[in-house]
Amino acid sequence: MDDILAPRFIDPVAARKHLEALRWPDGPECVHCGSADVTRLEGKKHRDGLLQCNHCREQFTVTVGTVFERSKIPLNKWLLCNHLLCAGKKGVSAHQIHRMLGITYKTAWFMCHRLREAMTASLGPQPYCCDNPSNAFRTVALFSSIASISRDRIALHVVEPSVF
Ligand SMILES: [Zn+2]
Repeated sequence: MDDILAPRFIDPVAARKHLEALRWPDGPECVHCGSADVTRLEGKKHRDGLLQCNHCREQFTVTVGTVFERSKIPLNKWLLCNHLLCAGKKGVSAHQIHRMLGITYKTAWFMCHRLREAMTASLGPQPYCCDNPSNAFRTVALFSSIASISRDRIALHVVEPSVF
């Protein structure tokens, strides 16, 4: 398992690339129609990580359909929050996340709530610790939508625990 100084916990672009590699190990796929024929939109006019499907013409990023969708909190802070929730042996409070991530308590509470809800919705109540035997546990948590509408469209990748 990486420490909290891993690039994806510090840099939003590294965090985005990390999530893309997890979600699309064989390259990006359209989250709307499933086509692999997508173009990465680059340049100053486009926000980081924006992709466009050449089939249905819809635009999307890796966060669409996940708990990170439409969040203004940098992705690296989301991953770090998730890491702390999973790594804390006795759990981590929103107050501690607030202090460690340099975000407001309200934001920290919101993030913890979303991540815990996604974990619970996916696998039922579980202890939030790294001793959990399920390899899929953390990935499922990350790629589960809080809204059930898009859950079935999301690939749940089973990965080694060390990737988080
Ligand atoms: Zn498409």
